[in-house]
Amino acid sequence: MPAPFPCPPAPPADAAWQRRSVASVWHPCTQMQRMGEAPPVAIARAHGPWLEDFEGVRYFDATSSWWVNLFGHADARINAALKDQLDTLEHVMLAGCTHAPAVELAERLSARTGHALGHTFFASDGASAVEIALKMSFHSWKNRGQGDKREFVCLRHGYHGETIGALAVTDVQVFRDAYDPLLMRAHVVMSPDARQAAPGESAAEVAQRAAAALAALFESRAGQIAALIIEPLVQCAAGMAMHDPAYLREVRRLCDRYQVHLIADEIAVGCGRTGTFFAFEQAAANNLPAIWPDLLCLSKGISGGYLPLSLVLSSDAIYEAFLDDDTARGFLHSHSYTGNPLACRAALAVLDRFDEEPVLQRNRETGKGLTAALAARLDGDARIEHVRQRGMIWAFDVREGHAGVRFAERFHMLGRTQGLLIRPIARTVYLMPPYVLNEEHVAYLAERVVATLNATLDTPL
Ligand SMILES: *Cc1c(COP(=O)(O)O)cnc(C)c1O
Repeated sequence: MPAPFPCPPAPPADAAWQRRSVASVWHPCTQMQRMGEAPPVAIARAHGPWLEDFEGVRYFDATSSWWVNLFGHADARINAALKDQLDTLEHVMLAGCTHAPAVELAERLSARTGHALGHTFFASDGASAVEIALKMSFHSWKNRGQGDKREFVCLRHGYHGETIGALAVTDVQVFRDAYDPLLMRAHVVMSPDARQAAPGESAAEVAQRAAAALAALFESRAGQIAALIIEPLVQCAAGMAMHDPAYLREVRRLCDRYQVHLIADEIAVGCGRTGTFFAFEQAAANNLPAIWPDLLCLSKGISGGYLPLSLVLSSDAIYEAFLDDDTARGFLHSHSYTGNPLACRAALAVLDRFDEEPVLQRNRETGKGLTAALAARLDGDARIEHVRQRGMIWAFDVREGHAGVRFAERFHMLGRTQGLLIRPIARTVYLMPPYVLNEEHVAYLAERVVATLNATLDTPL
């Protein structure tokens, strides 16, 4: 077990890296003025779920390094695949050329959708995948003579990235408000977030209410609407807001009826995170026929947390709308590192593990252990509410009166002293660990999270 991190003051090597980082690196998602109180943890190396600083103190990577890591750090199989690829082909442009890793990855992802989404367009980060999906939707309608369909619909508190186009379909005030004057207008409809249930109302009923709100919008404006974009099953950046899978069937039905594309942003929830490889697969539970979105975005976990890679899977219908003798009717979008062979090869190593090991079943087993260990410590705790889980995501909310000021920052800093790297979203504490949990990890996580919670709530303000 790692020793608690003496914080502050940081040991000399860590402190030196912290000082140099604050002086020269403009950190993401950070008010740099707070760096005095909350300096970055200087990570020297990592292995499995553990991150280690320059003094050898270990932290459990409880949020999988911003939700990207699947099989732990320095995974032997991914490392070997990358070393091999490095000596074979590091990069070549994907316009006018092709290469085995891109082809194999596209084929294998298509197969995982039963070839419902048979065309893969590559990019490098999640926000770009969202931009691509929005552009594809609009442009395919336009190519079909329906250029009026140029509005988008997104969900309350949804998150789709922070470039200007992706931010326009994002409804998280803290990221969006400063840029609001720059953004195209989108329709924001009710989220199916199950926490909104009235007394006696089920999650499925909340999903029905949300679908009814969407139907009302479609009824009046579908002629102008190109696509609806959603995060299936869990709106992660909203604070792990979870909803009933019935919502996915409802939106698929409405999008078919009103001729609106359905974009599934599985950037965070894909790659097994919610218990199935694609979250959308859960729309077909209980022997219902499989249904798919028209466009599906993947990123984060697809490369196992190794390299920036994103992609958009498209239906035949959308793909075919671009086929023409006229170049300008093609989808000309491009990024320089599109389909980078190293990133694709890491993704293939990730898919190998899903094919060759019972990853999802193993997660179900270890997941039960973590659910039970958290319940044993948190059941009946009046300071928290909405304890929830979907696949490899656990979350609870600290009640308003108990959180105090700067709750997330204080929790994060006290987590460090417990050997945890964890970052609550506002009052939501969540765990999104890599898929390598053993019993020891489960016990460690449950114990340290609750210890951090107690320490945070006991801290005088
Ligand atoms: C992280 C995320 C994005 C943006 O991905 P980046 O790689 O950070 O640009 C988009 N959508 C969802 C649902 C995400 O969680």
